This record gives sequence, C-alpha cells and structure tokens, in this order.
Amino acid sequence: MAGNHGDEYPGQIAIMRLLRKLTPQDVTGRIILIPALNMPAARASTRLSSVDGMNLNRCFLGDPNGTVTQMIAYYLTTVLFPLSDVVVDLHVADRFRQMISARWPFTSTVTAGCRTAKHTSSRFSFK
Ligand SMILES: [Zn+2]
Repeated sequence: MAGNHGDEYPGQIAIMRLLRKLTPQDVTGRIILIPALNMPAARASTRLSSVDGMNLNRCFLGDPNGTVTQMIAYYLTTVLFPLSDVVVDLHVADRFRQMISARWPFTSTVTAGCRTAKHTSSRFSFK
C-alpha cells in the first residue's frame, strides 16, 4: 500500500505500475494493492487528510465512529490486515521526494518482516 501520506508519489506510482503488469499467473494466493490509501490526501497532494486534517499514519488502530481518517485506519486494522500475511507500507522521505524529477526511474528499498525488497522502476523482487 502507498499514499498513506498523499504527497508521497513514488510508492503510489510503483503500485499503479505493478497493478498494470501483474497477471493472475504471477500471483499465488491473494495480493491486495492499494495505491492511494488516504484518498483525500492523495487527491489534494497533501501529507494530511484534506477532510479532517489528520495523519493516517498516526491514527492506527483507528476508530469506527471517528473521523474519515480514523475510519480508514480502523477498516485497515480490522478487515484488510487480518487477511494479510505481510503488509508493506511504502513511504518516501522529503529529501527523496525532491529528487524524483532528477532521478526517475527511482530505486527504493522496503523491509517486510525479515526480508528486504528492492524496487527499481517496474521490477519488484525479494532477496
Ligand atoms: Zn509517509
């Protein structure tokens, strides 16, 4: 998943590219890809939700009766995370974000449990 912070674009772009390239033959089991986790923030190109001003990354475990951002966190925590063996939440740092235009295609590394995945443009592999 990406777009926890709406102004962090590389993860959102990477997931959209992965969505276009994946075929059913590539997947064993189930894969859930969410390119814009915090849609209000992604649409507004902001770190925080444009609806309630909250930081989704700080709202877990969520609240089913809370704000929109708290409800997103609650849904993820109670519905999607229990369906998953591994959850990868892609973020980028401010310095990296400023380098996107100069360094595209980019390479990023994420850690999932004890494994590290290296993503380079449209290729995604675990070591
Ligand atoms: Zn972030």
